[in-house]
Amino acid sequence: MNRFFLAVIGVCLSVTVALSGCSKKQMEEDLKTCSDNLKQIGTACELYATDHKEHYPKTIEELQPKYMATIPTCPVHDTSYVYTSQKDPDSYEVYCPGSNHIELGLENDHPIFNSTQGLVTK
Ligand SMILES: [Zn+2]
Repeated sequence: MNRFFLAVIGVCLSVTVALSGCSKKQMEEDLKTCSDNLKQIGTACELYATDHKEHYPKTIEELQPKYMATIPTCPVHDTSYVYTSQKDPDSYEVYCPGSNHIELGLENDHPIFNSTQGLVTK
């Protein structure tokens, strides 16, 4: 009997370890996708500015469809990005809102991509 329970506990533990390993890897992949999405939005903003006397778009939707076919969302919960821009001097910032990547040590509302620093994860 004891052996049987030990075997059950052993299986449970290895399944738990395997699952947590998978989800960490998944979280890292999601963060990579999210960061890449923000960079792509940044690139689209620069292209937009080139065509609009160096002004960034007022809303993220203005990038569609000419500069981006679709505006990407964070793979975690399909979260829409938050975009803000300012004029004179022109700048923009786009970030992943909430705590989607908090398990990987990022703060709320990160990563951020902005016109002065590029990608900010910390
Ligand atoms: Zn995200």
